[in-house]
Amino acid sequence: MTLKQALGCARGILAGNNIEDALLECELLLRHALKISRTRLYLDLDHELSPKQEEAFWRLVERRLNDEPTAYITGHREFYGLDFYVDPRALIPRPESELLVETALGLAQNHPLFTIAEIGTGCGAIAISLALSLPETKIYATDISAAALEVALVNCQKHGVIDRVHLLQGDMLDPVPEPVDLIIANLPYVKQSELAPMSPARFEPLLALDGGSNGTERIRQLCRQVDSKLPPGGFLLLEIGQGQRRAVTAFLHTIFPHGEIEVVPDLSGIDRVISLSPIASKHELANAQPSQL
Ligand code: GLN
Repeated sequence: MTLKQALGCARGILAGNNIEDALLECELLLRHALKISRTRLYLDLDHELSPKQEEAFWRLVERRLNDEPTAYITGHREFYGLDFYVDPRALIPRPESELLVETALGLAQNHPLFTIAEIGTGCGAIAISLALSLPETKIYATDISAAALEVALVNCQKHGVIDRVHLLQGDMLDPVPEPVDLIIANLPYVKQSELAPMSPARFEPLLALDGGSNGTERIRQLCRQVDSKLPPGGFLLLEIGQGQRRAVTAFLHTIFPHGEIEVVPDLSGIDRVISLSPIASKHELANAQPSQL
C-alpha cells in the first residue's frame, strides 16, 4: 500500500465515522507514524509503506476511531501559528481562542501592557503566544492544576520564554503577586449537564471544561476578584461560550456599573470575547454624587 492509498483509505474510514477534517487528521497521523514532515509526505506519496509502518499507522487510526483526539495521539497542536506540546494533563488549545490573543494584541497597540496575568493557562498557548508577540511584557500564567503547569513548562522551554512567563500554581488570581495591566482568561465554561453525557469518551481534563451548573461559575468567580488586581486603565479579556454573552455582561455590569464592556464575535459570528475596562467605573465613581451610587 502506498502512502497515498493509506491516506485515501483512512480518510474514508474517519469521514464515515463523522470525524471532521478527516484528510488533515489522517495526514497528521501518517506523518506521526512515519516521523516525517508535511513536505516529505507529499514528496513520498507514491512510496510503499513497509508492513511495520502500515501497522503503526492503522494503530493510530484505531485510537482516533476510539475518540482519542489527534493532538493527544501526536503530542502536537498548532495555535496562533505556533507548535505546542499537548497531552491529557491539559486542554487542547482551540482555534477560537486565538481571538483572545488577537484582541489582547489589538489593545497592546494603544495601551502599554507591561504586565499580563493569564488565568487558567493550561498548556500555556495563550500566555506564550502573547509573550512572543510582546517581548517587553512580563506575563504571569496561573493554573489550579499542577499537572497542566508541567505541560506549560515544556512549552515555555520549547519557545524560549521561560524567563518572561512566570508559571504559578493556584486558584484564579490568588498566586498573582501584583496588579497587572491585563487579565486574560479562557476559563472552563461548559455546563455540567453538557459534560455528563460525553464523559465516557472524554480524554481532556474535566477540570478545564467544567463551568458549573450554569457554565459561568468560574467566570463569575474571576470577575468578583479582578478589582483587586487591575489598576486604573487595566483590562479584563474573557473567552465565553455560545449564548453566555448576556449573563456575563449583566454580571460584569453589577460589579462595574460604569465599566466599559465590549463583545467581540469569532469567525463563526458567535460572541466569543468580552472585554472590560473598569476605568470608567473608578473615574466616574470618584466624581459621582452620592445619589448616583
Ligand atoms: N470551547 C471549548 C469546547 O467547546 C470549551 C473551552 C472552555 O471551557 N473554556 O470544548
